[in-house]
Amino acid sequence: MNIILIGSQGSGKGTQAKLLQEKFGWTHITTGDLFRENIKNRTELGKIAQTFTDKGELVPDKYVFKIIEDALSKAEKGFILDGFPRNLEQAEFLLKKIRIDKVILLDLSDEVAIKRVSARRICSNCKADYNLLYHQPELEGICDICGGKIIQRKDDTELAIKKRLEKFHHETSRAIKLFAEKNMLIKVNADRKLEEIQKEIISKLEKS
Ligand code: AMP
Repeated sequence: MNIILIGSQGSGKGTQAKLLQEKFGWTHITTGDLFRENIKNRTELGKIAQTFTDKGELVPDKYVFKIIEDALSKAEKGFILDGFPRNLEQAEFLLKKIRIDKVILLDLSDEVAIKRVSARRICSNCKADYNLLYHQPELEGICDICGGKIIQRKDDTELAIKKRLEKFHHETSRAIKLFAEKNMLIKVNADRKLEEIQKEIISKLEKS
């Protein structure tokens, strides 16, 4: 299946996508990680993207389309898109390019999203995710998996998060409306335990 996971920051898209990847073997494509990789490797695209990502602003579509086309061409056995599309133009671009089976909306209030995202941490080395609210590393500041240093992403500050949430309500909601009109949308309450959310996603995908 080709699936889109859509939701505000902190809705658990990344975690749910990884679980679906493990269960079904679909390729997990996340534009945020693709940009971070380019930024780390100091590619031309990375340098341009960083001027937007650091401020919590969306990278202009022409750069996003380049990165996503590249990633889609490598996905052979179905994919889960996480972080793309984020506006109506990106959604229309995608639907013209490739078949999408379902769009899963992880629904979360802004209040909970801000709380969760401000507590989010990531390993600077292997990119493992942590959260000071419910998934702390065993040793403070050190990754359980690789021993790398745990950091806060530059765009996980409260101001940057609020900006991204605003974008979500203004821009991503137009993409969601399009998917709803096309009867592709599955809505799931994301203010629950991971396992419960995952169970509901799988059961709704199986029924669809
Ligand atoms: P994320 O990890 O999904 O929050 O993405 C981090 C940052 O990468 C975002 O704040 C944007 O600057 C950029 N980004 C990721 N995906 C997209 C997209 N689909 N369109 C535009 N910018 C994006």
